[in-house]
This record gives sequence, C-alpha cells and structure tokens, in this order.
Amino acid sequence: MNFEPTDEQELLRRTVYEFARTRVAPVAQELDREARFPYDLVAEMAELGLMGIPIPEEYGGAGADTVSYAIAIEELTRIDSSVAITVAAHTSLGTMPIYLFGSEEQKQEWLPRLASGEGLAAFGLTEPDAGSDAGATRTRAEQRDGSFIVNGTKMFITNAGTEISACVTITARTGDDEISNLIVPNGTPGYEISPPLHKLGWRASDTRELVFKDCAVPEANLLGRRGHGFAQFLEILDGGRISVAAMGVGLAQGAYDLAFAYAQERQQFGKPIARFQAVQFALADMATEIEAGRQLVYRAAWLKDRGKPFALAAAQAKLYTGLLSNRAVNASLQIHGGYGFTDEFAISRLYRDQKILEIGEGTNEVQRMVIAKGLGL
Ligand SMILES: Cc1cc2nc3c(=O)[nH]c(=O)nc-3n(C[C@H](O)[C@H](O)[C@H](O)COP(=O)(O)OP(=O)(O)OC[C@H]3O[C@@H](n4cnc5c(N)ncnc54)[C@H](O)[C@@H]3O)c2cc1C
Repeated sequence: MNFEPTDEQELLRRTVYEFARTRVAPVAQELDREARFPYDLVAEMAELGLMGIPIPEEYGGAGADTVSYAIAIEELTRIDSSVAITVAAHTSLGTMPIYLFGSEEQKQEWLPRLASGEGLAAFGLTEPDAGSDAGATRTRAEQRDGSFIVNGTKMFITNAGTEISACVTITARTGDDEISNLIVPNGTPGYEISPPLHKLGWRASDTRELVFKDCAVPEANLLGRRGHGFAQFLEILDGGRISVAAMGVGLAQGAYDLAFAYAQERQQFGKPIARFQAVQFALADMATEIEAGRQLVYRAAWLKDRGKPFALAAAQAKLYTGLLSNRAVNASLQIHGGYGFTDEFAISRLYRDQKILEIGEGTNEVQRMVIAKGLGL
C-alpha cells in the first residue's frame, strides 16, 4: 500500500491549483452572476492539456492515469464548480464513450479534436421521463437508407450548446428491447438545442434540452455494437462517478479553505472566531471528513487504473463525497455568518453549487442502489 502521490501527480496538482487560483478565482463570481460560459478559461485549459487528461497521447490527450484526472478535477472544483464540471463532463461523459467504444476510424475523427480542447463533447442520456431510470429512454433511432432517423428529447445535457460544442453521444432505442449509442455532430439538421437552462448552481456551465426531429445520423456514427448502448452507458457512468466524487472532495476542500481563512480574520468578543472551540471543532470535522472522502476517491481511481472492478468503490466515493460536501458547505457558510449569505463571499456560490453533486450522475438514492447491488443484496 502506498499513499504517496507520484511526482507527476503532485506536479499536476500544483499546476491546476495555481491555474485555478490565479486565472479562475478572479472571474468565478462574475461568470456565475452573469451565467456566462468560460470560453477563455477553456482555451487556457486546452493549452495546459487539461481537456483530455486520461486520453492516450496517440489521440491527442495527456495520457495520464485516473488518479491524476481526479486530482485535477478536485483542484478545479476547489475554486469553481462550473469550470470543473465543464472539464469533467467533456472528458468522462463526452470523450470517454468514443475512446472506449469507438472504432479506430471514429477515434481518429473525434478524439484529437476533443482531447485537445478544440471542440467540446456531451453525453445525452437523461430524458424528461427517463432520469434515474435511464434505461427507460424513449428517444428512437430508426435505421433507414444508410442513416438512423432520430426522434426524441434529452434533458439537462452539459456542454452540448456552446460555440465550441462538437458532438453529443446519445442513447436511443434502435428496437423495442434495444438501446444503442449514436454520435450526433452539432449542426446536424433536425438536432435542435434549447437556450441554456437557468440553474441554482453551476451557472457558468452549459446545460440544455436537446430535441431531435427526424434527425438523420449516418449509420457510421453508431458507437460500438448495435444494442450494446445500455451496458455502455452503465460503464460510462461508473467512470464518471469518480470525477463527480472528486468534485465533492474539491468543493468541500474549497469550503474549508474559505472558512479557515475567514475564521482567522473575523473578530467577535474581542478575538478571532477561530479561537472559539465550536468553530475549531467544525473545522476539525470538515478536515477529517475531507481526508476520508479523498481516500475513497483516489482508491476508486486507483482500482480503475489497475483494471480492477471499481463500480462499487466509485458509487461509495460518489455517495460519501456528495453527503460530505453538503455538510462542508453548510458548516463553512455557518462560520461566515451573515456575510456568507451575500454574493460578496465565494462561499455563497459554493453553497449553491453543491446540491447537484447529490443528484447528477445518479442521485444519492441511485448510488445506494448500486452499492447494495455491489454488496450482493
Ligand atoms: C446541471 C445538470 C447537469 C446534468 N448533466 C447531464 C448530462 O450531461 N447528461 C445527462 O445525460 N444527464 C445530465 N443530468 C441529468 C442528471 O443525471 C439527472 O438529473 C439525474 O440522473 C436524476 O434524474 P432526474 O432529474 O430525472 O430525477 P428522478 O429520476 O426523477 O428522481 C427524482 C427523485 O426520485 C428518487 N428516485 C428515483 N428512482 C428511485 C428509486 N428507484 N428508489 C428511490 N428513489 C428513487 C431520486 O433519487 C430523486 O430523489 C444533469 C442534471 C443537471 C441538473
């Protein structure tokens, strides 16, 4: 057992945190207030090689391991969740399906563009009536004259509607008992993208409803084997959970950082509030839980990197860090008192950004279902 990160992992952590602190932090509040997508920051992250961290170098990625990827997502979220989810959804949900299930031709066509950050990718699983029950997809793709004709609606899709969005991989019913995945390039006639949704948090990230009306997608865009879409999306979600769990740790760490600093500055009863034991205990609990959550996330990533079963560990990490980040933002805001309730203090944004971590990529209840199954129940 070795708890020591490698030199490369440490360097990546420092690089990403430095980028987040110096480039993201100064604009995070403004991007959130204006619900503005961070194009400039995405371009800078592309330059840093952060848009394809776990994608092999031969396809234009950084060729790093899952632990490194989790560290990068954690450090971004420590400062801003909208920027972090843009990278995480692009990588784990948008690019990974093509890397894992694409033909060599599809990989050559899409991965260099996506892993370099030139284009963004999205994954369209959720529908208005198929959320936790994602297998209940109603979108249909009928094979006709060399194309799949797609009709249906996808809901809450991240990264699909930006100016640099390149494609969305969707699940669709290609038969009554058959789900397949299709790559739909942006700009395909019949693929309509709604205006951005107004959200409680993750306001600078792009979330849309997608509508497909007789949208003809070439047969060549079928991802992997026909009818394998259900198994494919379960595998994608298992991996994606590691990055959302990393977001939980990062968000909790960010909330802790803010509370730690504020508690030294804020004076009441003639001394810094950090001198009161109640405040110290809140910070002590946060630091302890964050460390526990971090180990769960790194272990899940480590298992994945070694080709071992990781679905149970990923669901446990996702559930625990969702709950932990909820407690952490709450405790941090409490330490900020009334000032934390204003937009002047970053904790109010972190507080709003937290809730989705208990909903996206499977709700807490869905994680418990996955964990129970993993336990043999
Ligand atoms: C900002 C944002 C970004 C997102 N990005 C994407 C994306 O990029 N791609 C994508 O495909 N999806 C995306 N989603 C969708 C997200 O994954 C779903 O919202 C999530 O899976 C839950 O589905 P639902 O919202 O339909 O809730 P429901 O499934 O309707 O759940 C409602 C409640 O019922 C509970 N519930 C449901 N079934 C059970 C059960 N069997 N037992 C116990 N409780 C149950 C749930 O836990 C929840 O509390 C995003 C969502 C948001 C808000």
